Amino acid sequence: KAPSQPLPPWLKVRLTQGKNYVDLKNLMRSQTLHTVCEEALCPNIYECWESRTATFLILGDICTRNCGFCAVTTGRPTGLDWEEPLRVAQSVEDMGLKHVVITSVTRDDVPDGGSAIFAETIRAIRRRVPTCTIEVLTPDFLGNWDALITVADAHPEIFNHNTETVPRLYRHVRPKAKYERSMEFLRRVKLHDPSIVTKSGIMVGLGETREEIHQVFEDLRANLVDVLTVGQYLRPDAKHLPVERYYPPEEFAEIKEEALALGFSHVESGPLVRSSYHAASQVPEVR
Ligand code: SF4
Ligand code: SF4
Repeated sequence: KAPSQPLPPWLKVRLTQGKNYVDLKNLMRSQTLHTVCEEALCPNIYECWESRTATFLILGDICTRNCGFCAVTTGRPTGLDWEEPLRVAQSVEDMGLKHVVITSVTRDDVPDGGSAIFAETIRAIRRRVPTCTIEVLTPDFLGNWDALITVADAHPEIFNHNTETVPRLYRHVRPKAKYERSMEFLRRVKLHDPSIVTKSGIMVGLGETREEIHQVFEDLRANLVDVLTVGQYLRPDAKHLPVERYYPPEEFAEIKEEALALGFSHVESGPLVRSSYHAASQVPEVR
């Protein structure tokens, strides 16, 4: 439980920089874009960029919420940037991406939560790089279901909204979110357009029990979620929630089996799994 606890060996990543990674790194240096991969110091960056998958952060870099696990700055965001969709699409083309994840800070300050920019970003990428598959990872839009439909109607292949943790811990982990609202959000996406793959994820290691995790999985299936990701919570710095427990790889494997038995079509479960990890393999084969 101690914050100074050393990382267990399975969380130490081997650094192998392939050619694709180096190309993308050089490209990003010459541009003014933000990838979550770089800003969150994601441990999977070598592997993801090598396979031409990246995650872009849109709608600025200041969030109106203050989740206990997240390193993004909280405050009053700046205005929306309507040029952003085109810039992202241009980068997706320049980077030669095969799969792109578009995510954002939460913009509770704007009535549509930034959903119109999400939708326009999807359309701009489609026009520019029709072969690239697109995943969105959105906030809950404060339960503004019109905002949800705006994004769904731009038709991403995967619509992801993270549950993050078990309901008992929401007060500390996601103080401005509501578990029931996130469940309803996911159900509504699927009911609105069953051809979109729905996806959600949790972090473990925040003090939840295995029974509570299982209940979340059941709730996600009851709300028609297709794809699940489960990864280890890592504390960004001392200001954030401490890690209560490091789950060993065998336990992640066990959790994966448990989830698959509930009927998810795809489950990624492992110490380094993040919501966009191996995302390209979750796209249905129809494309
Ligand atoms: Fe980027 Fe997501 Fe891969 Fe991390 S897991 S490197 S954030 S695409
Ligand atoms: Fe971070 Fe998202 Fe929470 Fe904002 S809403 S603090 S970006 S996890």
